[in-house]
Amino acid sequence: AKEQGRNNCQLYTPEMNSKAFERLSLENDLRKGLEREELVLYYQPKVNVDDGQISCMEALVRWQHPTLGLVPPARFIPLAEETGLIVPLGEWVLRTACRQNREWQKAGYPPMQVAVNISPRQLQQGSLVEVVERALSDSGLAPRWLVLEVTESIMMDGTESTLATFRVLERMGIHIAIDDFGTGYSSLHYLKKFPIHALKIDRSFIRDITTNPDDEAITSAVITMSKGLNLKVVAEGVETVEQLEVLRALQCTHMQGHLFSRPAPAEQFAPVFGRAAGA
Ligand code: C2E
Ligand code: CA
Ligand code: CA
Ligand code: CA
Repeated sequence: AKEQGRNNCQLYTPEMNSKAFERLSLENDLRKGLEREELVLYYQPKVNVDDGQISCMEALVRWQHPTLGLVPPARFIPLAEETGLIVPLGEWVLRTACRQNREWQKAGYPPMQVAVNISPRQLQQGSLVEVVERALSDSGLAPRWLVLEVTESIMMDGTESTLATFRVLERMGIHIAIDDFGTGYSSLHYLKKFPIHALKIDRSFIRDITTNPDDEAITSAVITMSKGLNLKVVAEGVETVEQLEVLRALQCTHMQGHLFSRPAPAEQFAPVFGRAAGA
């Protein structure tokens, strides 16, 4: 017990205090950053390797912090989820991504979908359908050009209300993709129950796919199952030509990863699209 008591005192070390303060100041900064439009969207293409076309652009948020520089989402999305800031942040992402895709369409680029990552909190909060409707109507983007990426956990904890929301979104014509497939508590039951359009095979299965037969077997099974269920399947984190070749042999046609492009600001894609549009 004495040992325990001593350990408890450790909670109040200056180090712990500074961590708590750092967190608090980051939270305040993020709140202000959202108001000051310090967030930026980067985009990463999903490529159809059969015809070389970009079928979709995934929006990935970054924070252009005044002193810390470009902050990756891993550093602030968890905090935003805990504090509830993810709701206004997620709305900003949706609105900005829809507007950007509409801009690309207006510029005459070949039409493609835009994908937005959705946190469980945004679904639980209840107004996701309204937020999506407003983002679409304000931007003028047709629903079929929007994909919402959710993780398996969303189907686990939300159940009936989540299912109801998904059904409304599906009826609106919006597509839903399961992100990081195979890393959560995947239940095949959910694939049957929820109106899903696509599965994204997590990067952890792709990383060693050329050397690890287990990864290849799992990926192959997911691809076959997806085809049987009429789901689009996307391999994430494709970095090498060797991985591309293995995936192609497994009949995977949609891929995303550094091999094709790292996430980049919207402007950087103009030359690529311009060429495709014949400009
Ligand atoms: P995610 O949705 O699974 O996104 C894929 C992540 O893998 C991105 O990291 C991307 O930059 C990275 N990536 C893509 N291709 C490759 C590759 O070939 N190799 C490697 N090593 N990495 C690759 P990023 O942009 O740092 O995003 C991390 C996570 O943050 C995302 O994972 C997503 O869960 C979350 N996130 C990003 N933007 C948003 C957002 O707007 N809202 C929400 N709720 N979450 C977001
Ligand atoms: Ca994603
Ligand atoms: Ca993913
Ligand atoms: Ca992820």
